Order: sequence, then structure tokens, then C-alpha cells
Amino acid sequence: MSAVTPPGPPSAPLRVAVVGAGPAGIYAAEALTRQDDVPVAVDLVDRLPTPFGLVRHGIAPDHLKMRAIRETLHRALEHPCVRFVGNVSIGTDVSCAELLEAVDAVIYTYGAALDRRLGIEGEELLGSLAATELVAWYTGHPDADRAKVEAALEGVRDVVVVGVGNVALDVARVLVRTPEELDPTDMPQHVLDVLAAAPVERVTVLGRRGPVQATFTTKELDELGDVAGATVLVDPADLPGEDEPPPPDRLVARNIGVLREFAGNTPEPGRPTVTLRFFGRPVRLAGEDRVTGVEVERTVVDEDGRASGTGDVELVPADLVVRSVGYRGSGLPGLPVDESRGTVPHAAGRVLREGSPAPGEYVAGWIKRGPTGVVGTNKHDARETVAALLEDVAAGVLRPTGGRGDLVELLRARGADPVLLEDWRAIDAAEVALGAERGRARTTLHEWDSLLAAVREAAHRIG
Ligand SMILES: Cc1cc2nc3c(=O)[nH]c(=O)nc-3n(C[C@H](O)[C@H](O)[C@H](O)COP(=O)(O)OP(=O)(O)OC[C@H]3O[C@@H](n4cnc5c(N)ncnc54)[C@H](O)[C@@H]3O)c2cc1C
Repeated sequence: MSAVTPPGPPSAPLRVAVVGAGPAGIYAAEALTRQDDVPVAVDLVDRLPTPFGLVRHGIAPDHLKMRAIRETLHRALEHPCVRFVGNVSIGTDVSCAELLEAVDAVIYTYGAALDRRLGIEGEELLGSLAATELVAWYTGHPDADRAKVEAALEGVRDVVVVGVGNVALDVARVLVRTPEELDPTDMPQHVLDVLAAAPVERVTVLGRRGPVQATFTTKELDELGDVAGATVLVDPADLPGEDEPPPPDRLVARNIGVLREFAGNTPEPGRPTVTLRFFGRPVRLAGEDRVTGVEVERTVVDEDGRASGTGDVELVPADLVVRSVGYRGSGLPGLPVDESRGTVPHAAGRVLREGSPAPGEYVAGWIKRGPTGVVGTNKHDARETVAALLEDVAAGVLRPTGGRGDLVELLRARGADPVLLEDWRAIDAAEVALGAERGRARTTLHEWDSLLAAVREAAHRIG
């Protein structure tokens, strides 16, 4: 592509494809439509036939208020200058280079969907799952490996969740919630049934370092304490002494306050427990056919917050181990990626190829800055990227070209089957109708076939 593109007719809008309809993609589309300097036409492309990314397939289903953010995100999809184009995978249905040929600019917001591994023996055993696998299953992602997750959950009594971030707490909470607590969620029925049948008695959430270094938020900790079906425990010896000065970080100080309350709890016979355990790192998953335990080495943490092993190893019984030690991004064919960080190299959102900004290519969200921050963090992030794009228009690096053909037509000619906004509305209506059968607001359709059948049935009714 040349650095300066030929201008289109004066009225032609700048045609932008956004790759990924998660929060970052939607906020980027919104930022593009909320400015008056440059007329735009935005195609918001997602490999799933549904929008919202991890708001739909990440945020825990029992976080009803948080998940309701999709109502706000949906408004951006209804803007007349935005077109949702689902069921299209960039890099497979069409290459990055072809996409860039078809539009004036591309903003990559395809997230960071891979899990990080522990790199220890036994990680491949039955009963060892990545949080990404469990979360995909309980949120009804159509690519979830249902057989693997359900085999791992069968008869589970002792669970170890490795990691002390919010996702680890989500996993622990979902596993001990009562069926009554999960009933109002949009989890698929088979998920509710499997969770209700899993006889979980003990969940250990394991942190390599101390409570001061844990990355969970006080809100998530508080919520864990409010779960009806379990008692939360902490060993007081893992906490800073009452006579020590409070941690300078207010978030950490609040967390320690909540952990102290948990340390005062006592287990009750017959009631499941969630133990938040610190200063322990997994060194091996024990078991032959399936996981039977985790060998945990006691650690000490130095002044810089680095953990090192003491050689003191204990076997913690576990028939399910969930590793929740972070997400990471990967490259799309034809797009540069920094393998060590799992992000696309960029300068203020401009994709860098061999160190220089690549005209017309931008990046936002988790694939730009790594898998950190809440949904709202992506708004600021996407705005920065869109500001860079608009600066490039002002500088003449990017110009509306018009007349390169319609992206949806190109995709159809390629044999893809794009799902547009009205099709997504049909899926949405089918999920609401399915939920209503059991008195719920919605039940997630969890299979490609049922998602696409909802689209076809609606088209048939209209036709
Ligand atoms: C388990 C979990 C729980 C979380 N809970 C909370 C919470 O309670 N509160 C909170 O504020 N934040 C939460 N977050 C964080 C929040 O979800 C993220 O900040 C946010 O979703 C990141 O947005 P994104 O758009 O960069 O990526 P994503 O949300 O991952 O969106 C990326 C989109 O790109 C699409 N895509 C991927 N590859 C392609 C391709 N090749 N072609 C086309 N489309 C593609 C995907 O299908 C997806 O829709 C949670 C995250 C996780 C993982």
C-alpha cells in the first residue's frame, strides 16, 4: 500500500473496518461516529455471529449488572454509520492484506484469547483446565470444548485454582454458587445442570506471592464472601500482622481488611469452603489418568515482590486444577506481533511494521496493551487509537477513496456468510425466547448450529 492514497469523491466517507466487536472494537466504532471532522462508514467485523467479545464470553454470568453493559455497547451498533458484520474471521475468510485493500483503514481489536501455561509436569492430565476453557464453557462460547470440561468436572470435590486475580475469583465463585444463585443467569441449561451435579466441597485459590501482591479487586473479594453456598477461609499467618504499618496502596489495604474478616471464619460441617492461600507455587500436578493433587512449594517474597521457592513441598488434594495465570494475544497471519508480550507493536495505536507506522493500520484493546484493565479501560484506549487515525486523515496519510466495492459483497463472493445487525437481533430474540421457557431473561445459545439456525429461521419468516 502506498503512504498516500488517492482521494475519492468529496462526499465519500472514510471506510474503516474494525476487526473484533468486543468492547475495544465497539468503543473505536463509537469514537469514529462521535466526531464531525471526517464522515465515516464503519464495518465492525467479528468471527462470532454475536457481538460484545468477553462481555458475552468472559465476564462471569452471575455478574448480572456488569454484563448489562452490553445494552450500552449495543447502542453503538445501531448507529447508521456502523455495520455489524459477524461470522467472519479475518485471517481465514479474508486476509489482512485483502481487508486493507477493500477499505481505507483497519483497526485491529481482536483481543487476547490464549491462555498462559504453568509449564509444569502433569498439566496435560484429565482434570487440568485453563480458565479460558472453563470460562468459554460456562459462558456458552460456541468453540468451548464441552466434552473436555464436563469430563474434568465430573465428580469433582477438591479444586485448586492457580492464580489470585479476578478471573480466579470468578472461577471459584461460579464453582461454589448454589443452583438458586445461578438460576437467573444466561448460562446454557447444560452448564447449570453440570455445575449443580458437581459435588464441590473445597476450593483452594493459590497465590505464588502474598496477599499484598494479589491482583484481585476488593469488590470481587467482597462478593466471594457473600456467596450463599460456601465459607471463605484465609490462614491469618499469610496476612501482614495487625501491628505492621498498613500497606501504602489503598486498594491493597482494603483487600487486606477483607482478608482479615475471612481469616476470622471457621468451616462449618457439610458446607463447602473456599480457601485463599498465599505463598505457594505449583511445581507438579500429581496423578496417572487424571489429576489427584497439586504439589505446592512454599515460597518467600522479597522486598521487590519476587517469589522464590523454599524447597518445602506439600501435596494438596485436587481432582480439578484450573490455571488462571493470565491471557495472551497472538498474531493474525500477515500482522506483526511481539511474541514476548503477546501484543501488536504500535505507537499510540498506529501499527508498527519494522518500527515504522504502517499507513491505514491501527490497533486497540487487549491486543494493543495486553490483557489488563476493565471494560471501561478500552474506551480511553480506543479513543487514543481513533485520535491517531484522525490525525493521519488531517495529515493526508489517509484519504477516503470510495468505490473499492462493498466489504460484505466481497466476503459473500469469497463464500463467507456474514451475519448482519438484523441477524444478530434474531439470535438475540431467540436467546430471550429460550430463557423465557424457564422464566429467565435470556439463555445463551452455545452452538454454531443453533446460532446460525436462529438467523436462518428469522430470514425464512421475513422472506
Ligand atoms: C474471564 C474474564 C472476566 C472478566 N470480567 C470482567 C468484569 O467483571 N468486569 C470488567 O470490567 N472487565 C472484565 N474483564 C475484562 C474485559 O472483558 C476486557 O477488558 C475486554 O473484553 C477487552 O476487550 P477487547 O475488545 O480488547 O477484547 P475482547 O473482548 O476479547 O474482544 C475481541 C473480539 O475479537 C473477536 N475476534 C477474535 N479474532 C478475530 C478474527 N480473527 N476476526 C474477527 N474477529 C475476531 C472475538 O470474537 C471478540 O469478539 C474480564 C475478562 C475476562 C477474560
